[in-house]
Amino acid sequence: MPAADPLPPEPILHVDMDAFYASVHARDDPALKGVPLAVGGSGPRGVVMSASYEARAYGVRSAMPSARARRLCPDLTFVAPDFSRYKAESERVMEILFSFTPLVEQLSLDEAFLDVSGAARLFGEPAGIAARIRERVRTERDLICSVGIAPNKFLAKLASAKAKPDGICRVEKDAVRAFLDPLPVEDLWGVGEQTAAALGRLGVRTVAELRTLPGGVLQRALGPGLAGHLIDIAHGRDTRGVVVHEPAKQVSAEETFDTDLDAPAHIRRELLRLSERVARRLRSEGLAARTVTIKVRYANFSTITRSRTMAEPSDTGTRLYAAARVLYEALPPGRPRIRLLGVAATGLGLSASEQLRLDARPDPWRETSLAMDKVRRRFGPGAVAIAAIADAEPMPPNDTNEKTPVRRRRGRKT
Ligand SMILES: [Mg+2]
Repeated sequence: MPAADPLPPEPILHVDMDAFYASVHARDDPALKGVPLAVGGSGPRGVVMSASYEARAYGVRSAMPSARARRLCPDLTFVAPDFSRYKAESERVMEILFSFTPLVEQLSLDEAFLDVSGAARLFGEPAGIAARIRERVRTERDLICSVGIAPNKFLAKLASAKAKPDGICRVEKDAVRAFLDPLPVEDLWGVGEQTAAALGRLGVRTVAELRTLPGGVLQRALGPGLAGHLIDIAHGRDTRGVVVHEPAKQVSAEETFDTDLDAPAHIRRELLRLSERVARRLRSEGLAARTVTIKVRYANFSTITRSRTMAEPSDTGTRLYAAARVLYEALPPGRPRIRLLGVAATGLGLSASEQLRLDARPDPWRETSLAMDKVRRRFGPGAVAIAAIADAEPMPPNDTNEKTPVRRRRGRKT
């Protein structure tokens, strides 16, 4: 039996998008490319939320009053923030991160920690993973990110800041002290203005000075809790693990139709479409569902839900639809027309790849679905039409003609 791979000494990555909001606008609007750009309010009380590197060259920074930014850079172009766009973009970027490891801790729309210690066998060394992440974010999203590589979270975050813009910075285990010592104490996690001022009164401005200060002096000045924390991080110690956020309890999609549906073929087709949407989101979050629920609201506004648990968890539209269709066919006949349909997946569990690994009978449609996700990520959501399989039995043909029934209003996703 081969020896287990040794754990990499620097297994934590901090991935941080460069000028995220501004870069999304610049990418999508050629007129904004290469110009000093600020996202935020341009009015007298506006604040810069994100600045392009062209704007930063003039000293424009995020959190700066817009009036001041305009004084620094008279040619500054302002655009209003568009959070739904950032959120959608963020989800695509996080999908890329999750394709390397399930241990992703998302900190905000544009940054995350990854623990890649278990990913070495599949993807190689952390530095190689960092390079591949940057390459995929660049080619698939046309955006730039920087990555810090370090033995722990606090060092990885410092490293990514150092890597910016458009770079990688690795803090090797044996070089932690050399990396930290020259930094100003303000750069340390947990050191705000007040703490920095208190340290300044002790003559401490750099991490080296902090590290060599007698512990008793620090404790008397700051109290034992904060002093202990600062001593730890001055030595580069941080034992916090990468914490994966609780997965969603339910993934669902629904649609309200401007013209109520009557024809069973249309209804089945809509259920398929909704099932595909839910399955895509399951896969993007690395989840598989055991139970499918359909929601039907009739023209008279009476609403029913029906649930069915599948033999095995799934993250494919085909399987979810098969369950949804059984539920639909079992509804009593002679009902009014349908104004709203919903499909929800619950009983979410093991990530799909885990499931696939453990599953004696892997779902044959899963590979196809993953391939379609890949094409969509690369060429946009319309690049692969779902198969018009609503009427097929028992499994879909490989047909990409999409026939669109009446569907004008998009439902809310929960
Ligand atoms: Mg960022």
